[in-house]
Amino acid sequence: MNIGIVFCGRCSSLMVDSGYDTPSTLKCSKCGNTKEFKVGHVNVEDEEINIHILLENARKNANL
Ligand SMILES: [Zn+2]
Repeated sequence: MNIGIVFCGRCSSLMVDSGYDTPSTLKCSKCGNTKEFKVGHVNVEDEEINIHILLENARKNANL
């Protein structure tokens, strides 16, 4: 399973409010940023779903 996680490009917050597949509506609910975002893609095997590892890998992939 491949998952893409959206981070705010300014404050690195995960609190990004988005419409599905509509980048123009992305907005960070923490700092109000509406223009800079990063997406971290991670591959997850069914037996190793761990939210902490998942987010850590996604942050690395998004270069945060
Ligand atoms: Zn932000």
